[in-house]
Amino acid sequence: MGSAVLAEAIHAIRDWSVTDAKERRTPKTAEAFGSLVFNDEVQQARLPKPVYHALRRTITHGVPLDVSVADAIAAAMKEWAVEHGATHYTHWFQPLTGITAEKHDSFLQPTNDGQAVLEFSGKELIRGEPDASSFPSGGMRSTFEARGYTAWDPTSPPWLLYSGGSVTLVIPTAFVSWTGEALDKKTPLLRSMEALSKQAVRVLKLFGSTAERVVTTCGPEQEYFLIDRYFYLSRPDLINAGRTLFGAKPPKGQELEDQYFGAIPDRVMAFMSEVESELYKVGVPVKTRHNEVAPSQYEIAPVFENANVATDHQMMTMETMRRAAPKYGLACLLHEKPFAGVNGSGKHLNWSISDDEGHNLLSPGANPHDNMQFLVFCMAVLRAVNKWQGLLRASIASAGNDHRLGANEAPPAIISVFLGDMLTDIFEQIEKGGAKSTKHGGELDTGVLVLPKLPRDAGDRNRTSPFAFTGNKFEFRAVSSNQSIAYPNIALNVAVTESLDYMVTELEKATKGGKSLEKAVAELLQKVIKENKGIIFNGNNYSKEWEKEAGKRGLLNFKNTVDALPQLISKDAVGIFEKYKVLNEREVHARYDVMVETYNKTVNVEGQLMVLMANRYILPAALEYQKRVADSVAAVKSVGGKSVEGKKTLDRLTAMTDDFKRRTDKLQHELEHEGNGDAVKHAKHYRDTVIPAMAALREAGDELEVVIPHELWPLATYREMLFIK
Ligand code: ADP
Ligand code: MG
Repeated sequence: MGSAVLAEAIHAIRDWSVTDAKERRTPKTAEAFGSLVFNDEVQQARLPKPVYHALRRTITHGVPLDVSVADAIAAAMKEWAVEHGATHYTHWFQPLTGITAEKHDSFLQPTNDGQAVLEFSGKELIRGEPDASSFPSGGMRSTFEARGYTAWDPTSPPWLLYSGGSVTLVIPTAFVSWTGEALDKKTPLLRSMEALSKQAVRVLKLFGSTAERVVTTCGPEQEYFLIDRYFYLSRPDLINAGRTLFGAKPPKGQELEDQYFGAIPDRVMAFMSEVESELYKVGVPVKTRHNEVAPSQYEIAPVFENANVATDHQMMTMETMRRAAPKYGLACLLHEKPFAGVNGSGKHLNWSISDDEGHNLLSPGANPHDNMQFLVFCMAVLRAVNKWQGLLRASIASAGNDHRLGANEAPPAIISVFLGDMLTDIFEQIEKGGAKSTKHGGELDTGVLVLPKLPRDAGDRNRTSPFAFTGNKFEFRAVSSNQSIAYPNIALNVAVTESLDYMVTELEKATKGGKSLEKAVAELLQKVIKENKGIIFNGNNYSKEWEKEAGKRGLLNFKNTVDALPQLISKDAVGIFEKYKVLNEREVHARYDVMVETYNKTVNVEGQLMVLMANRYILPAALEYQKRVADSVAAVKSVGGKSVEGKKTLDRLTAMTDDFKRRTDKLQHELEHEGNGDAVKHAKHYRDTVIPAMAALREAGDELEVVIPHELWPLATYREMLFIK
């Protein structure tokens, strides 16, 4: 990057002081945790007993909240918020775009006598009406009927947002149309958790449990990059697309692998510390932090929670990181692939289910009976992933994630399950003959169902699998760093719901027909493993051989978003969404439409940015250098000399520059495509024509970068962005 700007950046980095940051930070004491949350403790202290109990019933058992108690809750909530300095409240929701939305209303109500009072009614708590016309609805809401309502989600606690010197009470809400159709990601998530609970409870009943509800739990590990803000601001691509569209690979890349789990730089530590303390206060249980594989890449992970709350908390985590970074002179990059050729970022979605008696249903038990139940749940997940591979793949599809999945470093686009040797072995034994060997006391005499205690880390050795069993949970690793975890959660929930329904229906039939539960389970497991074992793969998922082998097994391999997305609207997928009342057909199609649209917009913005950067940044630098070389060659000639190498350099440079310009024009031309209103056709054009044109232009740009003198190059380079900290 040009030396003046670079010098400024480097001075800023050099002069940055940890001391300033320390003063700003609040300690992460146990007391601070949740201090800005209207949580159970506050509810209990401030709500009249009957009101508190009614609210608890709603939270734990999904019992609809009596409207009469809403006023009392709203009053207590307002009082608590105002005591903390809040002046406004907002219904916070998750529209079909990737972000969260909020509209702030003041508590202040003018009175007739020219004064004002602070008011907040039950009605205002329960329902809001944001001007929703500009949120994408995938055609579900025509413009003349722009009304969309936000509805309070009492299962996710309200919290206080301190920002820009003002305090706002944030109320997590669902966002629905006036006809009750879901316009957001939370509503289907809640419905999918409900659906899963129903089927899981049926299974538990069969095993003699008294549990009444099951919740999905999840703990999302977030990867991200931090680079100096000066560098960030010098790159239009980072600002507007979240990733670099040009940039030659640095001489020292991640090859040395000296970064992973290495010492965390001071400034980064200060940033992490602030993020953690802010998240602590709003009740997000962040737990781990470390360096990641790539230079300047890091990870933050919370302790797992109820999936709905975890999803809200995950959105808050991303937002908090984005907000905090500039205070430390940093920019936080959440894009899946900010730097080509450098490891990308994912979000590992750790997922499990547990009953209301506190048992993790994916934890192998200590006795044969528990193990049998564990194997049923585990097998249900295995079957779900196999049967609904396409749906799972579609749930994580985006233009950004296309740079990871199917490229050669991240999890592949092929969905498979890593079970670890021990569980694989157990399933193999079951397949071979579990059914015949049921005997005395409900135990299988082959010992198949008497599981040894699986070591906690047994499943975690394979880092290449997109979906791994890690001892007491599954880890969906193909999820992208930038996306809400709602969709992968929903897809997984609905797939497992279908699977559990199938399995428990079979078991109920068999046991009603007089079979012992043990025999019924053994027979069913044998059948299901036979049909679904193709999804198990414990080897290296990055290898070419696996791609071939997966092809032979008939596993799906959608290399890009355009190919993957139709899986969402397949007849079967829509069928289960409808059957389990997670989304109706229109709601599914709306999400599909928005995802296609988002893909198109993303690629279009990137393409336009590349043309802009090519014409206004790189080409002028190339022409300037060309002129300098030409001047030099002419100067040598004018004194009777002959600059052989100078002339060669000039010719090469001229050819490269011309080629670069031609590629720029080609991309510009391809971007002029009109889809004639057909978004899918448009998407295919982007995939097949625009993206290759972008790649070709980038190649030429990156070649220029390594020949143009440092002081003429107008963009921060990879070497600077990733290694100057
Ligand atoms: P690692 O995957 O590196 O071994 P951990 O086992 O501690 O690390 O877990 C990683 C994430 O998985 C954490 O967010 C953790 O809270 C979460 N996790 C652990 N148990 C469960 C569970 N039962 N359900 C959902 N997530 C879980
Ligand atoms: Mg992990």
